[in-house]
This record gives sequence, C-alpha cells and structure tokens, in this order.
Amino acid sequence: MKFENLDISIDLLKTIQKLGYNEPTEIQEKSIPLILRRKDVIGESATGSGKTLAFGCGILDQVTPNKGLQALVLVPTRELAEQVKESLNSFSERRKIKAIAVYGGVAINPQMTALKRTEVVVATPGRLLDHMKQRTVNLTGIKILVLDEADRMLDMGFIKYVERIIQSCPRKRQTLFFSATISSEIKNLADKYMQNPIRVSAKKLVDPSKLKQIYFNASRGLKLPLLVSLLKNERTGLVMVFCNTRFNTDFVVKNLRLNEVDALAIHGGLTQSKRSKMMSSFSNSKIGVLVCTDVASRGLHIENVSHIYNYEIPKDSKDYIHRIGRTARAGESGKVINLLSEQDHDNFARVRRDYSSFNIEKVDMPKLDRIVISKREIFRPSNGSNGFHKNGFSKNRFHKNKNKRDDRRDNFRRNHDSRW
Ligand code: ADP
Ligand code: MG
Repeated sequence: MKFENLDISIDLLKTIQKLGYNEPTEIQEKSIPLILRRKDVIGESATGSGKTLAFGCGILDQVTPNKGLQALVLVPTRELAEQVKESLNSFSERRKIKAIAVYGGVAINPQMTALKRTEVVVATPGRLLDHMKQRTVNLTGIKILVLDEADRMLDMGFIKYVERIIQSCPRKRQTLFFSATISSEIKNLADKYMQNPIRVSAKKLVDPSKLKQIYFNASRGLKLPLLVSLLKNERTGLVMVFCNTRFNTDFVVKNLRLNEVDALAIHGGLTQSKRSKMMSSFSNSKIGVLVCTDVASRGLHIENVSHIYNYEIPKDSKDYIHRIGRTARAGESGKVINLLSEQDHDNFARVRRDYSSFNIEKVDMPKLDRIVISKREIFRPSNGSNGFHKNGFSKNRFHKNKNKRDDRRDNFRRNHDSRW
C-alpha cells in the first residue's frame, strides 16, 4: 500500500515524502481513508505505530488557516502534548496552520495569548479546563476532537475532565479516539459521545523476532547490584529503567550515579522544566540511562532505545506492554530485562497470563561485583497511584516535603551503608 492511495492531499503527501515515510503503517492504512471521509473512528494500535499522522491527516483536512481554533487533541501527559504538537506542526509545514501545546506546570499567561492565534490545540485535560473556566479558550469552532492515548487518560482519572471538555465542544464535529488498548470505559465513552464510530485495530504489539525478553530471579537486595552489573556490561544505545514508584525511581537513579552509571530520572513529581530538560538530554544523547515511572512510558517516541529494564514489574499488565513498546520500534531490535524479586511475582504472573504468546526466558544470575548503596530501599506496593488526588491537585508539595524529611533522616544517619 502507498500513501498515494489514501486520498491524502498533495501538500501532505509531499511533507510525508520529506519526512521519509515510505509506506503507511497498518493503522494509518486502515484509519486514514475513514478519517478523511469524516467518520468517527476508534483506532487501536501499539505505541510507535504512527497514530499521530493518522489523526493528523484528519486535522489538516478539516482545519482552515486563520479561522480560529478548530481542532483539539487531548493527551494524558505534558511530554506527549509537546511531542504531538511538534509532529502536527511538522505535518502542516506546507499549510499555514499552527498547533500549540497547553499543559499545566508552566505559566498560564503565554498560553492565553497563544490560544488566540492558533488553529490546533494539543492539551492535557486539567490545564484546558483552567482555560475554559477563565474563558481564555473558545471551543465553539471545534470541528475535530481527538483523544490520544485515551486509555491512559482514563487510567489517570481524567474521565470527568474529559467528559466536561467533550460536552463543551460543538455537537456537530468529528471525534477520533486513539489508544494502544481499548477498554470498556473507552467503549462507554464512545457510545456516549461518538456518532456511529468505526473501530479499527492493528494489533500486532511487538515484533517477537526483533524483541528478546528475559528475566532474572533476584532477591530484593541483589536487584540493584544486578542492575548496575548489567548496565555496565551490556549497554548499547539508550536504556530505560522502569520503576513503579517515584520513590524507587529516585532511589535507583541516586545509586546508579553513586556507582558511576550516568543516569537521569523522570517522573510526575518533578517540575515541568526539569522533566523537559531530562527528556531532551536523554533523547539527544547516544548513550544514556533514563530511570522512569510509567508516566514517561506512554506515547513518547524516543528513537534507538535498545534496552528496557523493568526494575519492578507493573501492577497492570497493560503497562508492561507500554513499557516494552519503547524498544524494537520500526524494525530495530530490542531487549527487555525483567528483574524479579518476591514482590514482583504476582505482577509478573499477570503479564504471563495476559500475554501468553510472549517467550520470556529465565536467565541465571551472573556473578556480581560489590557496589555502594546509599539509603535503604523501601518497597511500597504499587497501588496504581498516578500522583493526582481525586480533586485534581498534584501531590508534589507533599512529596517535596517528604523528600526533605528523607534527606534530613539520611543526613542524621550518615549511613552510606555498603552492601555488595
Ligand atoms: P504512536 O502515536 O502510535 O505511538 P507516533 O505517531 O508517535 O506513534 O509515531 C512513532 C514514530 O514513527 C514517529 O517517529 C513517526 O515519525 C514515525 N512514523 C509515523 N508514521 C510512519 C510511517 N508511515 N513510516 C515510517 N515512520 C513513521
Ligand atoms: Mg501517540
């Protein structure tokens, strides 16, 4: 199949050519013709399969330059807002259509000004609602509404926000949902707010021949020495290490550095400017280790991730899929390394049950070197908390104070406790 057969405008075809895409991905091939016929579409496909271009075609088709805000894309995270905005702007290179990103954690005033002059907004739900309350965004001209990473948005407890936003858009519009997985909640939302939606899916999650998955059984105290040893001995491109909690993310990063592994942390507890800085230094470097929570895993496209380490196995097996979707993209090969201790066995069993086709091989523990460990590790059960209270306020302040308390306690103990 060729892009030329999908009814895409000449302008966009030229841009696609310039971007170097030779042929449409499966989800693009299946959804773009429907989207260009102005159908409501629910698109299901793995991360990295090119969903942005699929809905981008619909946006470029519907939006006219200088006619005010006409397209709205809702996304779950700030990083994704930036990334989708960038992609949309690259697609509209030959048209005078501008996309801006609107998200929390940064000043609101510049967004107010930008909102007056844009045709497309990519927004996280919380900040968009702030603008709606302050009447600094006008949704009456919306012709096309997209929910990107819809499942994640609902997982993160944004459902009420999302509904309020959808209800504020004109009824006569095109609605597109894109997601890596389609849950019953998404189906309910579709029943409520879409017109005869057509569901398309391109379900191949990962190319098993390109992705090697292994696991180690390690006792709790050996996980970090194992991680350090693996990172030192087996490292090619960019590496992501996933933890279930912010606390453990910070713990792992701190100790990797202590053991001379260059590592960066990214999780929801960091300020936006820190998160952006981390993301760009990671994706600009050739070799590096990014330690992160699941917030960072969704929807982000970072090229050349060669290894995914699961320092902890996520509670929800879908998150495992999202994590491993970071590697083995677009024909590259990748490796997934799971470090299991007692606490992970239930979660790991769930992954194996839900994705029984995966071949995850057990590997024996290598001989480990002695490492330095600062601070004791606390394994809290992952409760699926996403860092947001029900009322939508972030727990940042609490965490900051908590970190201070931890630091004070650490100073007091001065326990650079050296195990291994
Ligand atoms: P998703 O939203 O499904 O996770 P993205 O839209 O972020 O995927 O696209 C992932 C990557 O694939 C991006 O770098 C994008 O530029 C690239 N891409 C998109 N479509 C194609 C295509 N048809 N051929 C090659 N690369 C593509
Ligand atoms: Mg995406």
